Amino acid sequence: MEELISRAAADLARSKYAVALTGAGMSTESGIPDFRGPNGVWTKDPSAERRAYLAYDKYLSNPSAYWEERLSTPSVLGNLGDYLPNPGHYALAQMESFGVLKTVITQNVDNLHQTSGSQHVLDYHGNAFKLRCPACLSRYTLDDYDLAELRQARHLPPLCNNCGGPLKPDTVHFGEPIPPDVAEHSLEEAGLCDVMLVCGTSAVVYPFAELPRLARLRAKVVIIEVNAEPTPLTIEGISSYIIKGKTGEILPRICEQVERIKKG
Ligand SMILES: [Zn+2]
Repeated sequence: MEELISRAAADLARSKYAVALTGAGMSTESGIPDFRGPNGVWTKDPSAERRAYLAYDKYLSNPSAYWEERLSTPSVLGNLGDYLPNPGHYALAQMESFGVLKTVITQNVDNLHQTSGSQHVLDYHGNAFKLRCPACLSRYTLDDYDLAELRQARHLPPLCNNCGGPLKPDTVHFGEPIPPDVAEHSLEEAGLCDVMLVCGTSAVVYPFAELPRLARLRAKVVIIEVNAEPTPLTIEGISSYIIKGKTGEILPRICEQVERIKKG
């Protein structure tokens, strides 16, 4: 394990363009519930999963009813603003500040990378603290709209200040395409990187799962997994090696060594 941590630090320190892919494993270490685990949101409430599958069609067919339902049902994840980044988030932000890590591409919607100080974050599945206009791709913060007031005044859905289209939450629903700007930018990053650090994700959900597979096509790219258990990336030989354990424990140790190499 110690040896693999040193190897990862050396690979990152000599990289020219390192990117990180992150997933639910990083969020659960901050106490955010996952969806399909033993205590998952949907394991405990299958009706919430059925609603989630229907949400995008509902938004498309009747944005006003979609918003009415959304604002009258408490979020299945509770108040995401109550959670804090963990040492794994801070380690990635620190490696960015050293100039080593260029971008974090995350499947998580909780904004914890931004909270921990990461500057270049691509929210692949959207961000729970933002609204998005699917028509023109403008983003707004939740503070930009008083949703409760719009609901009371029967002025739902909230409308885009740029083009007037109906807004939706930035988070990507089942069946909804990845926002094209984020999808394109992520593909570019996967095509540019020489080191990819995969943290807390088994990368089985497409199209996110394409990103490490695309990077793998270039023989010299080093793909480092930090995951609790081997994943399809390990088994299919997509990753170069796996460091097994919690991202909140392993990433800070890698970061510490990267700092030593960079400053030494
Ligand atoms: Zn718009």
